[in-house]
Amino acid sequence: MDGRRVDIAIIGGGLAGGLIAAALARHRPEVALALVEAGETLGGNHRWSWFASDLPPEGAALMESFPHAAWEQGYDVRFPGLARTLATPYRSLASGTFDATLRRLLPEGAILTGTRALVLDEREVTLEGGGRLSAGAVIDCRGQGFSPHLTGGWQLFYGRHLRTAVPHGLTRPVIMDATVEQYAAYRFVYVLPLAPDEIFVEDTYYTDDPRLDREALGLRVAAYCERHGWAGETLGEETGVLPVVDGGNFGGFTGEHHAPGVARAGARGGFFHPLTSYSLPQAVEVALAIAHAPDLGGPALVALLEERAARHWSRTGFYRRLARMLFGGAVPGERWRIFERFYGLDKALIERFYAGRSSLADKLRILIGKPPVPLGKALGALFSQGRPLEAPPAEEAA
Ligand SMILES: Cc1cc2nc3c(=O)[nH]c(=O)nc-3n(C[C@H](O)[C@H](O)[C@H](O)COP(=O)(O)OP(=O)(O)OC[C@H]3O[C@@H](n4cnc5c(N)ncnc54)[C@H](O)[C@@H]3O)c2cc1C
Repeated sequence: MDGRRVDIAIIGGGLAGGLIAAALARHRPEVALALVEAGETLGGNHRWSWFASDLPPEGAALMESFPHAAWEQGYDVRFPGLARTLATPYRSLASGTFDATLRRLLPEGAILTGTRALVLDEREVTLEGGGRLSAGAVIDCRGQGFSPHLTGGWQLFYGRHLRTAVPHGLTRPVIMDATVEQYAAYRFVYVLPLAPDEIFVEDTYYTDDPRLDREALGLRVAAYCERHGWAGETLGEETGVLPVVDGGNFGGFTGEHHAPGVARAGARGGFFHPLTSYSLPQAVEVALAIAHAPDLGGPALVALLEERAARHWSRTGFYRRLARMLFGGAVPGERWRIFERFYGLDKALIERFYAGRSSLADKLRILIGKPPVPLGKALGALFSQGRPLEAPPAEEAA
């Protein structure tokens, strides 16, 4: 490894790092890059989903290079007092396909898996084992949005991919089935019909407690499947704990992983939706911004990403305030009321919300009307401190 030199070293081959590499390979094939990933595969063990309306045409074209499941006929939501089909097309990509596609798209030798980076600086990356990589620019994409400088709660997931013994009969995704028991959280089940006899069922919780009880959640998914008559072989599982950010000190957060001259993207750079904890739309946007940057040198990329991160933070304050009302204003088992009311609103407003592009009129519409949580408590929550998002124990982190 000593002596190897690239134009751009991307550290962390998760969603953000992988998409930056894919966008560079597509738009700037002359750029020599290295994608350095500690794990044996790119993208870990995840399924990433998004609404077609999350991405502009160029972003959708980038994602088209990754084979993924697509539902053109929209999706369903179910609440105690509302069942609705929304026509927005939905997409989902499995990390195994992400890994295989990047290995096909990137030039030979660009991907270094099973390689942990230890020290990053402006022009060099020191790897575990002592190897070094020199680069014109280094982009840190090592994940993690937790930070004691951010406040909020948690989103926990346990998902199971099943091959059903008989066709399950579902044709559209169910993005939220909140008619289930709530267990002192906002709980919903998320279902993706991946093939006539394949289904992905994920139990999700907006909760104050980041501890994930894999066994209990597995039993709840099994009970949900049984209730719907879905029996069969388990093909895979995923778990995750993500921060839901309701406030904090952005300067403290960005200062935490600061290395002079090193650009930051992905969750580590602050590029995620504070309320949904999803980051695919932001990762696509940042990947394309890098691929179209006139100057790909380190200082220019640091400036580009810092400016975009600050803009993203200030644009997403509304979602943090909603998260604060969700965690501080609603009794945990009653949080579903906020989402039930939200899903009764206009389809285009919902699309802009998930894409993180709510207009002023959308924000007013979301807030105006009979509040689904007691107003006094919601206002009290807005002026409260919030709970620091310390990283959960390693085995519970995403
Ligand atoms: C169960 C689950 C479901 C999710 N579903 C969705 C979804 O449907 N849609 C969506 O948009 N988001 C979803 N998310 C959130 C999404 O996965 C994250 O927001 C996203 O992965 C963050 O991207 P990232 O590249 O910043 O970090 P990661 O994807 O976490 O990637 C960071 C990478 O850096 C590597 N790394 C860390 N340290 C080093 C090191 N020292 N050297 C080299 N490599 C290192 C890690 O191994 C990892 O691969 C989900 C998350 C989970 C856990």
